[in-house]
Amino acid sequence: MSQFTVIGGGIIGASTAYHLIKQGHEVTVYDRNDRGNATGASAGIINPWVSQRRNKKWYRLVTKAARYYPGFIGQLEEETDSETGYTRRGSISLFKDDDVLELAFNRISKKKTDAPEMGEVKMLSREEVKDYHPHLSDKYSGVYVEGGAQVKGALLRDSLKKAFIKAGGTWIDKNPPETTEGMTIYATGAWGSEQGFKPVITHQRSEVLHFKVEEAEVVKTPVVMALGPIYIVEMGDNEFAIGTTHQKTESYDDSPSEENYQYLRGLAERYFPDSKLTDIRMMVGFKPYTRDFLPFIGHVDENTFVINGAGATGLTAGPFIGHEVARFLSGEETDLDLSDYSYVEPENN
Ligand SMILES: Cc1cc2nc3c(=O)[nH]c(=O)nc-3n(C[C@H](O)[C@H](O)[C@H](O)COP(=O)(O)OP(=O)(O)OC[C@H]3O[C@@H](n4cnc5c(N)ncnc54)[C@H](O)[C@@H]3O)c2cc1C
Repeated sequence: MSQFTVIGGGIIGASTAYHLIKQGHEVTVYDRNDRGNATGASAGIINPWVSQRRNKKWYRLVTKAARYYPGFIGQLEEETDSETGYTRRGSISLFKDDDVLELAFNRISKKKTDAPEMGEVKMLSREEVKDYHPHLSDKYSGVYVEGGAQVKGALLRDSLKKAFIKAGGTWIDKNPPETTEGMTIYATGAWGSEQGFKPVITHQRSEVLHFKVEEAEVVKTPVVMALGPIYIVEMGDNEFAIGTTHQKTESYDDSPSEENYQYLRGLAERYFPDSKLTDIRMMVGFKPYTRDFLPFIGHVDENTFVINGAGATGLTAGPFIGHEVARFLSGEETDLDLSDYSYVEPENN
């Protein structure tokens, strides 16, 4: 048994702490729960197969992570008897142009060879898109992927925290003391720049609009990958979230911007043209990045380990990263080759 101090209790820190305690170690978490933490703001799509990003190390990580999710959620629900915020109702990627739809369908279908957990992949006509998601505009056809899922970050983190404490872990909701016990793991998200480790951590501010569809009938809908970087997820009974905006910044101001609100409200009206929409709230979060847009997972010295830069897919990758890091630090074999992510130079492309 070893002693670990985890600094930061977002999805990365919470998952790492949970998996370490399951390995039988002594673990303490310190978390400041800063405003704008990414885990609390995110709506959490788990759907890596439809991305056009070509980086192999990233793709390996997120597809293994998506495969890990259902078993991990099952275990967590059993241990905590609480909601984890995870649902798997498939995803629909929307297209305006039928030629592009067919190309996308072929590209996405091919991925099934290595990822059977994608389940059924099919093209949807405009009418079929509305069968799956009656609120949506009838302007778009789509590609449906059965394995697409979503998770509410805040609920998942709370569930991990509950399971961690139940298993004997210590969770302290404040800054760590000057000196900590055992190996220190920094999972400080966008606040990683405070430590000054390499690679440098920067952050992007992202905003999401939550709104309600004022209709009596409640429908359960798949995740929607809309045009460009926009997605729409269901957050509860006729409540949806649309996002996100992306803005590189050094600020940690998490107040919503009027410009981004107007932009997202306009998109919500465009995608839900026949519904009466009521605003609920804007959520603002800071996504942590490295220069290479890949997470960094590795030692900075013998007693200091860093996991950061999970970027736009940290909720997908977080549980599996925690699992793998706990195995690695326990001297066990890992499924993922962590040396792929413990780089500083050269660039990972
Ligand atoms: C709007 C939005 C939408 C997103 N959508 C998706 C999505 O659809 N799918 C997906 O996979 N990912 C998504 N993400 C990305 C994902 O949420 C992040 O990659 C992930 O949450 C990062 O987790 P983290 O633990 O590294 O950081 P965080 O969640 O920010 O947690 C860091 C924690 O460390 C604490 N901390 C920092 N410094 C200290 C310190 N010195 N002492 C104590 N505590 C400290 C902070 O207070 C915070 O609680 C989204 C993110 C945002 C913002």
